[in-house]
Amino acid sequence: MNFETYKKWQTENQFWSSTNTRFTPFSEFKKKVESYTDIAEVSSLGKSEKGKNIYQLTLGEGPKRVIIWSQMHGNETTGTLAIFDVLDYLKSNKNSQTEIFENFTIAIVCMVNPDGAEIFERRNSLGIDLNRDAVAQQAVETKLLMKAINNFKPDIAFNLHDQRTLFSVGKDINPATISFLIPSFNQEKTINETRRAGMSLVASVWRSFPNEYQQNTGRYTDDFYPTAFGDNIQKKGINCVLIEAGAAFQDPKRNEARLLVGFSLLNFFRFLKEEVHHDYVEYFQIPQNEQKLRDIIVKGIKLKNKRKPVLVDVAFKLEETTEKGKFKRTLLVEDIGDLSQFRAYQEVNGNGLEFSSNDIFIGKKLTFHEFQHIFWEGVII
Ligand SMILES: [Zn+2]
Repeated sequence: MNFETYKKWQTENQFWSSTNTRFTPFSEFKKKVESYTDIAEVSSLGKSEKGKNIYQLTLGEGPKRVIIWSQMHGNETTGTLAIFDVLDYLKSNKNSQTEIFENFTIAIVCMVNPDGAEIFERRNSLGIDLNRDAVAQQAVETKLLMKAINNFKPDIAFNLHDQRTLFSVGKDINPATISFLIPSFNQEKTINETRRAGMSLVASVWRSFPNEYQQNTGRYTDDFYPTAFGDNIQKKGINCVLIEAGAAFQDPKRNEARLLVGFSLLNFFRFLKEEVHHDYVEYFQIPQNEQKLRDIIVKGIKLKNKRKPVLVDVAFKLEETTEKGKFKRTLLVEDIGDLSQFRAYQEVNGNGLEFSSNDIFIGKKLTFHEFQHIFWEGVII
């Protein structure tokens, strides 16, 4: 799979590109899933806490078994969109479709947490983080996913998430537009044969990216999370590749990550079939994620004080929520002080504007319009 070819196709064929693709109502999602009955068996694993179907698509009839799931965290939509891109690509490209369907049987659970998705929330409707529920399985959504995995008996699993904008790579502090992880199965982070095979696959996919994207790829920490899905699937001796879609400069809809995740999935199929992989040690050449990016930094504002005003930088975090079905963005003050070690998606000159600590404080929220009015009209979110 050539990157430019896929990029061209994806750019021209992207559905929902004109709308706000960070948030998709369940009704729209359902329509899209049901449009795949010509290439997939569309079934329901069962109902979410609030009674929404959790869909599974089953495709192909090959010997290798691959399961993919997305949106365990309801507000992490990029993986789901990338899956739809891949399915649309396979629909329009019969050669690739035949090749993949002859070699693989694929199960896709493309919205594990529909209740969270409906209101753009990370957790399920009981407030449970599904990715910390792999052992206790208190949430109905977790039980259904685990049952689907156990029934399907995959050779490999892909766990699709979105990571926060703060994740960066390299000393120039660039966004980690995509990150990978082959999770640990114990505290010691032992690298056994299974993990080695997964690492070599990830290294191969990473190396298939154009140079500029290789530089924007991060490696997630492999600290052991005893209650997380990936770690527990890995414990069963099955690779569970974590793919985190991240941000890029000037890309609030995460189109770059969507493109990279789709391209990665197609390449995982290619490398799983060819079994020609880069050495697993190359996985460790992917730079580890750091957290040095902020959404907006206003540089140099004055905070009034008893003596003379102090000059500080203020970092704002972009919060995305919904209110009565409408997508809403708010800016929250998350840091104040010398922020010269950080870089931001947008840096604004504070021009020495003066504020009291009643106006600017940690946790203070501003609407987009308030921010524009006070600091900068040109801000993009
Ligand atoms: Zn997540």
